[in-house]
Amino acid sequence: MDDYDKLLERARTQVPEDAFKRSGERFKVPDVQLMVQGNRSLWQNFQDIINVLNRPGREVLKFVSGQLGTAGTMEGGTAIFNGKFTAELVDDLVARYIESYVTCPVCTRPDTEIKKESGAYYLICSACGARTAIRPV
Ligand SMILES: [Zn+2]
Repeated sequence: MDDYDKLLERARTQVPEDAFKRSGERFKVPDVQLMVQGNRSLWQNFQDIINVLNRPGREVLKFVSGQLGTAGTMEGGTAIFNGKFTAELVDDLVARYIESYVTCPVCTRPDTEIKKESGAYYLICSACGARTAIRPV
């Protein structure tokens, strides 16, 4: 093993291996609880999930209802969509929202906020400082 390899080895061991894992554990999104009532779908734990995502409810609602291709409204902590949908489908859309609007693409942590600057939207990461241009919801 030459000096360069040793140096590399030392650098690697100094990075806490569970740094990313810890962050992932802190960011636990509950499973979507959805109930179909007549011709509507009631997303009962909507408030719990947007609290974890740390995003405005109307943004998440707009994204999910847009993907479902239906209208959505909020009543208290419940999101209501016209049409019958499954919890699995909405779970999948929440995952997509997180990927596009919550997780930092540079360090994969969820410690981000969305900022609007001169008409453009950026995902600002407080963990690594990355600024990523995103499309508005
Ligand atoms: Zn980051």
